[in-house]
Amino acid sequence: MRGWWQDLADLVLPAECGGCGRPRTVLCPRCRAVLAGAAPRRVRPEPEPSGLPAVHAAAPYADEVRALLLAHKERGALALAAPLGAALAGAVRAGLRQALGVGAGGPVLLVPVPSARRAVRARGHDPTRRIALAAAAELRRCGTPARAVAVLRQRRAVADQSGLDSRQRRDNLSGALAVAGAGVRLLLGGPVVLVDDLMTTGASLAEAARVVGAAARGPAHDRAPAAVYAARTREGMGDKNRGARRKEGNSVYDTGERAAAIGPGEVICAAVVASSPDSFEINRN
Ligand SMILES: [Zn+2]
Repeated sequence: MRGWWQDLADLVLPAECGGCGRPRTVLCPRCRAVLAGAAPRRVRPEPEPSGLPAVHAAAPYADEVRALLLAHKERGALALAAPLGAALAGAVRAGLRQALGVGAGGPVLLVPVPSARRAVRARGHDPTRRIALAAAAELRRCGTPARAVAVLRQRRAVADQSGLDSRQRRDNLSGALAVAGAGVRLLLGGPVVLVDDLMTTGASLAEAARVVGAAARGPAHDRAPAAVYAARTREGMGDKNRGARRKEGNSVYDTGERAAAIGPGEVICAAVVASSPDSFEINRN
């Protein structure tokens, strides 16, 4: 018979690896390598929903990685939040490198895509928010100022997304997310990276990007705070980096001009722990 003490012991001393079931470890070395061993990659769902920011993923959603995310999300293996967060942090860094060319000058806000309230109640925790907090801690530890700000809420119940095609998902999500009242002020603390544990069709991330963008622009489309942030970002990056990028004739961006266009609350990219294997394949050419 399992008692509460057994549940508690499972939290403190998990009985098995969340990825493969190997006993007496939260995450065995082999599953850790599968989760974080490869460089994060740009992923694209097919079809790609309009408004989807550039998304980077740490690993394909399969086998051990799928098992790890499910163990954390559905079975409350909370000790996995740190390694999953570290994997997410790697995907965030890859996105920032591509969007800005160098590390962001100011703090980056990680905004988690919210889970359904009912699911959070049933699970007893919000897995994506927990992973976002762990990722922000990992980024700060490695010198990238970052905060997780859970400003998005589900405004109404949405149907379970699994089993819906991309169009049905978009309709299901349309108007379902909102920035919580006080969240708009939090969004002005820096540029936004949307984060989630998993990307399937990209519909949730595209809708989150739309809602965050609209909230940050505000009803009056007041861009004054953006100018302030951009100036700070340019200082943070320094002339040397910008000059170097120009000389290379880098085809991605001139970081200085790019940074000048980025305001607080603006979604610069998205990052997920895992994405469907197909979304990696398409990217391979
Ligand atoms: Zn394992």
